Amino acid sequence: MRFEFATSQRIIFGAGTVSELTTLAPAFGNHALVVTGTNPGRAKQHLSVLEAAGVACRYLSVQGEPTIDLVREGAQAARYASFVIGFGGGSAIDAAKAIAAVAPNSGEPLDYLEVIGQGRPLENNPLPFIAVPTTAGTGAEVTRNAVLGSEELRVKASIRSPLMLAKLAIIDPELTLDVPPEITASTGLDTITQLIEPFVSIRANAFADLYCLDGLSRAVRALPAAYSNGADQAARTDMSFASLLSGLALANAGLGVIHGFAAPLGGLLNAPHGALCAAVLPHGTAMNIRALRERAPAHPALERYGRIAMLLTGDSSARPEDVVSALASLCGALNIRPLRAHGLTSAQIPSVVEKAAAASSMKANPLALTRPELTEILERAM
Ligand SMILES: [Zn+2]
Repeated sequence: MRFEFATSQRIIFGAGTVSELTTLAPAFGNHALVVTGTNPGRAKQHLSVLEAAGVACRYLSVQGEPTIDLVREGAQAARYASFVIGFGGGSAIDAAKAIAAVAPNSGEPLDYLEVIGQGRPLENNPLPFIAVPTTAGTGAEVTRNAVLGSEELRVKASIRSPLMLAKLAIIDPELTLDVPPEITASTGLDTITQLIEPFVSIRANAFADLYCLDGLSRAVRALPAAYSNGADQAARTDMSFASLLSGLALANAGLGVIHGFAAPLGGLLNAPHGALCAAVLPHGTAMNIRALRERAPAHPALERYGRIAMLLTGDSSARPEDVVSALASLCGALNIRPLRAHGLTSAQIPSVVEKAAAASSMKANPLALTRPELTEILERAM
């Protein structure tokens, strides 16, 4: 058995821990660039004490998911910063992470982007980066890649480096209490996808398995509860923890076909990452299981889908296929919309399939899917 495991230097988890930023952040310097979501109000409210502690904060807010242009601008704004804080959902955290990486390096974001850019390694260390998530979803606080959209090519790709791990991640579930139900559902299903895909991936390993199994058992109980009552602190805590575990799992065991589709769909449609993962999740899972039965019936991923089925259904005689019906009913209960509702048209399917086949996440899928199989997944997710 061999595996490598990398994570943030320091992870602090728990209700009220956001207040610890005041004592911890000044160690990183006296000029912070703070990257937030659309509304910087709450970050300002929590970080005003930092100013009193002698740290000057400059704010940059991200509208929607981060683009190459935004990171280019942000890297300019970060020229005089000693460190970067990402305070918000996955978009704000990924934008902050990419800005911290690009700012001290020559060249521009495309030089370092995989798939659509040069994919060059970073020459200089990124600026220190602190992650404070306000949604329970992407686990971006502990991953070593940042996903950016290209407006020109209408696809998403990552800047990736072990140097991009946050120096400090503060996960305070209380920050997620006011996330509305629709975002709770889509970010939570992103978490569930990120706990299933690493567990069946070709890079699955015993260490990441621990995170996947514990995270999944929490998330399947807590997500419907957090969706129906946002103020349920225990459910919010479980979802924040499951999201953290999903980030650790994906960063160390890879993803698969569902995230392979999320990259081109996210570039093409104006829809949040989690909503796209959720729409594809039951159909991508069904196809993986069918293809494994047809072409690789002895593949360990099939037995692993069986273990997920037992966990999702609570039934020790559950079969791998039962994962699909459990996911479909969860998506139904959380009012997940099909891809058509996000604007995907049948005419766009062939180009999405081509881009998905080339996406970096697809490489870790338990087996290679054919073009007709990929097409069928999208047709069913429409
Ligand atoms: Zn994801």
